Amino acid sequence: MSRGGVELKSGFVAENFTEKSKTKRTPLFSVGEDDSDESQTVQETCETGIQCKRDVESLEIEPGNRSLDDVNRDWKESKTVTPGEAVRLLRRGHAKTRELESRFPAEQAISIRRAFINKKIDKLPFLNYDYTLAVESCCENVVGYTPVPVGMAGPLSINGAADVFVPMATTEGALIASTNRGMNVIRAAGGVETSVFNSGMTRAPVVKFPKAKDAVFMKLWLDDKENQEKLRAEFESCSRFAKLKSVDVTIDGNLAYLRFNAHTGDAMGMNMISKSCDQSMKFLMETFPEMSVLALSGNLCVDKKAAAKNWTEGRGRSVVAECHIPRDVVTRTLRTTPEELAYLTTTKLHIGSSRAGAVGGQNAHAANIVAAIFIATGQDAAQVVSSSMCSTRMEVTEKKDLYVSCTLPCVEVGTVGGGTILAPQRACLESLECAGPNMKVPGRNAERLAEIIAATVLAGELSLMAALATQDLVSSHMKLNRSKLQLYTDESGKPTQFQKEVEKAEHLSVGKGAIRLKRPTTQDVVHCSNIL
Ligand code: NAP
Repeated sequence: MSRGGVELKSGFVAENFTEKSKTKRTPLFSVGEDDSDESQTVQETCETGIQCKRDVESLEIEPGNRSLDDVNRDWKESKTVTPGEAVRLLRRGHAKTRELESRFPAEQAISIRRAFINKKIDKLPFLNYDYTLAVESCCENVVGYTPVPVGMAGPLSINGAADVFVPMATTEGALIASTNRGMNVIRAAGGVETSVFNSGMTRAPVVKFPKAKDAVFMKLWLDDKENQEKLRAEFESCSRFAKLKSVDVTIDGNLAYLRFNAHTGDAMGMNMISKSCDQSMKFLMETFPEMSVLALSGNLCVDKKAAAKNWTEGRGRSVVAECHIPRDVVTRTLRTTPEELAYLTTTKLHIGSSRAGAVGGQNAHAANIVAAIFIATGQDAAQVVSSSMCSTRMEVTEKKDLYVSCTLPCVEVGTVGGGTILAPQRACLESLECAGPNMKVPGRNAERLAEIIAATVLAGELSLMAALATQDLVSSHMKLNRSKLQLYTDESGKPTQFQKEVEKAEHLSVGKGAIRLKRPTTQDVVHCSNIL
């Protein structure tokens, strides 16, 4: 294979860089907990699909003996340069790190970048990853990837289907066990029902006129149906899926903020709607030559900032989940009562959040669930800000059962575009049966994802509220969330057992020895999920 004039061979990295420290190659993860089969080779481990220790821990660059001028000339003419020469060019400022992927295959480009930045990141993996789509549209200046453990909570009974397992990427121990317990309760209660009640992504450019009167004139011009249709035609010309719902204008002196709101099919839609807004603003500038566009986003959108506007008007998919839980299920599985839960909802979720001045924070921990599903399914993680706004209600019914609802007005999700194109994230969406575009009803896949998120939030809310009501929160976190290993040195500075193990195994927290040392047993986990 050749790229940019560079001949590629397998083992290229090893051939062109000298490993400073040759450590004994043991697999990073073993197959079984106590698997200590030293004969298991790195290659064998890789073939099983299990991540293995192939990281080049320290790269020594072979700078070569060609003059810098010769190397620079070859680089500019897209001729062959070696990785070592590329590092020399980077160090002298003759090449840019962003150019590397266009000149070398991904893993090599990353090796060169890592050598150039020369920081101790040898425990950050970079091999065995498909960079094709990632470097094209998800991440720049790539130096590796951070594996985040993914657990499945479930099965969740939702809208009559009893077999939904929800992937959650998290490093907060106890979160999935707790969500799982909530799902058990939901199952025992006959399932959760969800509905999407609004859909629309927003973008709000800010424009300036010479005078406030001109801005007001533009607002009135947009009230006219015929003008709206002209603007709609421009807006929708940019995408097969962008369908303009409304444009609301907010005036501030001679400034105007035009909040475009549109259906975006199965896309979360920010790129789509930004492109459509750009086209719309060009059209408006022709109509109002005295108008200047200050920014395509004037922050009234509101994207990735906590805002009452989103909380009250909604953004993305607005979704509600509800469940009636018989009294005996509450007492048996949650070891509390509907009355206690309803009272805690008032005192904690409503009064407490109101005294804190929270916006959209009338919930126990919706962000935990939203963030974990977002990361697993390739959503834009920064949109957890609005997407986790949630009103959780728990009330005692006339029959003394428990009514629970979670309303999330701003679930900003998509099943196409962004990080959803990456294979692992897509696999998680596939497991939820909502990957990619919905060919029959565009938007239905994204709605399904939003509904699953709302239902999972409800499970999480139930479990955490019950743990708080029964005072079990701290004990369960100590059990599942606080590492059993003494990770940090005390004042004496003596290495901890964990550090000794790390040194011995020459791996970080995933070292075999460290895992074997005091990993919680399945029994611990079961016990913990019982008390949760
Ligand atoms: P996108 O990948 O930019 O656009 C979606 C693409 O999928 C479009 O090309 C669309 O076709 C196509 N598509 C095919 N089938 C579809 C279906 N059933 N429904 C919807 N689209 C379908 O995705 P996006 O959601 O608009 O943008 C997401 C990205 O924006 C994320 O990476 C996010 O991090 C980023 N982002 C951008 C901004 C910003 O201001 N630009 C802000 C926040 C986040 P068409 O070509 O016909 O539209």
